[in-house]
Order: sequence, then C-alpha cells, then structure tokens
Amino acid sequence: MRAVTWQGRRHISVEDVPDPRVLRPEDAVIRVTSTAICGSDLHLYEILGPYMRPGEVLGHESMGIVEEVGAAVTHVQPGDRVVVPFTISCGRCPACTAGLDSQCETTQVRAHGTGAALLGYSALYGQVPGAQAERLRVPHADHGLMPVGEALPDHRYLFLSDILPTAWQGVEYASVPEGGTLAVLGLGPVGHLAARIGVHRGLRVLAADPIAARRAMAARHGVEVHDTAEDHVARIREATGGRGPDAVLDAVGMEAHGSPLAQAAQHAVGALPGGMARRALEHAGVDRAAALHSAIELVRRGGTVSVSGVYGGAMSPMPLMTMFDKQITMRTGQANVRAWTSTLLPLAADPADPLGLDDLVTHRLPLEEAPAAYELFQRKQDGCVKVVLEPGT
Ligand code: NAD
Ligand code: ZN
Ligand code: ZN
Repeated sequence: MRAVTWQGRRHISVEDVPDPRVLRPEDAVIRVTSTAICGSDLHLYEILGPYMRPGEVLGHESMGIVEEVGAAVTHVQPGDRVVVPFTISCGRCPACTAGLDSQCETTQVRAHGTGAALLGYSALYGQVPGAQAERLRVPHADHGLMPVGEALPDHRYLFLSDILPTAWQGVEYASVPEGGTLAVLGLGPVGHLAARIGVHRGLRVLAADPIAARRAMAARHGVEVHDTAEDHVARIREATGGRGPDAVLDAVGMEAHGSPLAQAAQHAVGALPGGMARRALEHAGVDRAAALHSAIELVRRGGTVSVSGVYGGAMSPMPLMTMFDKQITMRTGQANVRAWTSTLLPLAADPADPLGLDDLVTHRLPLEEAPAAYELFQRKQDGCVKVVLEPGT
C-alpha cells in the first residue's frame, strides 16, 4: 500500500510499504478514507526529527472503514465506518477506567513502560506505524475504535480522533467560572476548536495568533481576536479590565523556529520574572516556548493556564517565581480521547453543527500530495488552517 513516510527533517515522501495485518486478537485493520495533518506532525517533521527513523509512517488523525478484525474485537465488524483515536489504550486498567486513557497503565500498549502509545509518533510513543496511509493497523481496536453514523461527511467525525477531544479537554482543564473569560493563544486547528467550545459554553473568548487568515476565521465564530505582533498580552489584559482572563489556553506548543541565540537565552533567563523573561526571549529571537511564557504572564492572579500545546525537546525554563507569586494552576497532558467521546459525538453529529466543524478544513488533497500538503500546513499561508489527505482519491 501507499503511505506517508518520514525521510529526514522537512523531508517526507509517499512510498510503497507492506500492507498492515491483524497481528493480535485486539487488532483491527482499517481502510483509511480521511487522515489529517496535525500540529503534532509538524513537531516530528522538524524539531523532533532526531527521534524519527527514515521510512517510518506518519500520521495519527484518521477514520475509515473496518476491513478486518481480530477475535477479541466484538463491537465493530468489517464494513463499519469508524473513527480511530490517536491514543492507543487498553480500556481496562485503573487509568483507563478513571478516564485517563492517555495514561494507560498496561505495559503491553507501549512496549516500554506505561502511558498510551500513539499512532505514528516514533519511538517516543511506542513505535506504532501511522495513519497517513491507505490502510492502518489499530492495536487495541477492541477499546479504541468508535463507530459513527453514515449520515454526515468525514470532516464531521474525523476530528473526534484527536483535535476535538484535545480542545475539549483543554477547555475543561481551564476551569473557567460560568460566564468567565478564556484567552486562547494560537489559532491552529486546536486553538480554533478550543475557542469555539468556549463560545459554545457561553464564555467570553479572546484569542491571539500571528496569521491574519486564522484570526479572520476565529472572528466568524464569535471570538475577539488579537495580533501577536501588536503586544497581544497587553491588549488582552486591557480588554479584561486590566485584570487578565480567568484562564489562558496554550494551543501553540513548541515552535520550530527558535534561533540559536534564543535557545542560548532560554538557558540564561530562568531566574527572571515572567514578563521580563518573555521580553528577553523575544529580543533574542523566537522563543520555543513563547506562548507558554505569554500565558503565564497574561492570566489573572489565581487563574489557570491550560496547556494543550506539546512541549518537548529543548525546553525553556519555567518562570516559577511568577507562577508562585500569581498562584497559577497549570494543567496539561495528552488528550484522553475516549473519555470525552460520549459527550462529543452528539455535538459533532448535530445537524446544526454547534462547534462549527464545517468551517475548519481549508485543503483536501490526495495522499500522494502529502509532501506539498505538509509544506502548506507548515508555512500556514494561502489561508491554510486544516489539511486533510484522502487516500481514496
Ligand atoms: P498549528 O501549528 O496549526 O497551530 C499553532 C498556531 O499557533 C499557529 O496558528 C501559529 O501561527 C500560532 N502561534 C505561533 N506562535 C504563537 C505565539 N507565540 N502566540 C500565539 N500564537 C502563536 O498546530 P495545531 O494543530 O493547532 O496544534 C497546536 C498544538 O497542539 C501543537 O503543539 C500540537 O502538538 C498540540 N496538540 C496537542 C494534543 C494533545 O493531546 N495535548 C493533541 C493535538 C495537538
Ligand atoms: Zn494530532
Ligand atoms: Zn489502560
């Protein structure tokens, strides 16, 4: 079959790879109909490149049709239309049964240690071949696969695989009081959905992103938008009466383009209070954790910083003095996809589209065009917000 493979930093290609097969009784094999590119794929594309091996199959957001199931998979059968969670978890251990399926305690899931394995996420997360392919082996399909209806197009269900539960968890963890204020930093697909979920819940949502087209899309969904080029921290603080929002959700994560000077500065500014640290890092170039520093600076005293963005690799020092002084609560983590789906499936399938899922995908391309699709999503130009690859086309 054809699959999107990592070949080197910023270098992917579509190759012939062996067809996946059912290897364990809990497995299923899916014919992939839609598979999206995620900001997390961009980390592997660039900054986490050292963890990848040439030829590994990328991708973790997918849905399709069940082709084959192992003997232990009883809730779906060949022919069923399903969404595939990006986290692979057992569904039976104490973590899974407590709704923390990304923290699955079954060693068999990840092969080395515990915690959910992730599709297409290298040796970092269990070395499971990814979903940007014509077919996909889904381990622990007996727990993971989610049957969806036939009524609506793929893009209404596809995001249940990752970014919708990620955004939902981010807003849950932000713990904004009823009618309160949420600031969302970053208007990629995760930030968009988090902002729309906030609006859907009756919160006042402000957001910041450097890209005009992404801000314009958010403005269509009732979000007050700010340009990061115009001191969004000061602007959002002003817009919240000088107090700062009740919570700030970081939907950015590590940025690929930190300059060598910024990286050196990250190691030198650890002792500075948050605002000074952010300004010092901005002065030195792009901070790999600029959004997280902004979030800590912006949130009101006693507020919450909810981190959906992924940080790893070269990490910035945390401004612990500011976090202590402002009594900030911080929550973060991989999405517990399965824990949120019973809440989210009805919202995704609601004909009225309360979360605006019909207005997110900007580009649909055949699988063969994956190299151009990655470049497009990485550059964030041409109005690009979410890119879906369609293996069948
Ligand atoms: P994306 O790269 O499309 O979005 C990031 C956005 O942040 C872009 O629009 C960019 O212009 C903007 N940005 C960059 N620097 C900024 C700054 N300093 N302040 C404000 N905005 C800034 O990616 P995405 O697909 O939306 O994913 C966002 C993050 O969420 C990534 O780090 C991804 O790895 C992470 N993620 C986490 C989970 C999870 O389970 N926790 C799941 C999916 C994605
Ligand atoms: Zn993802
Ligand atoms: Zn488990």
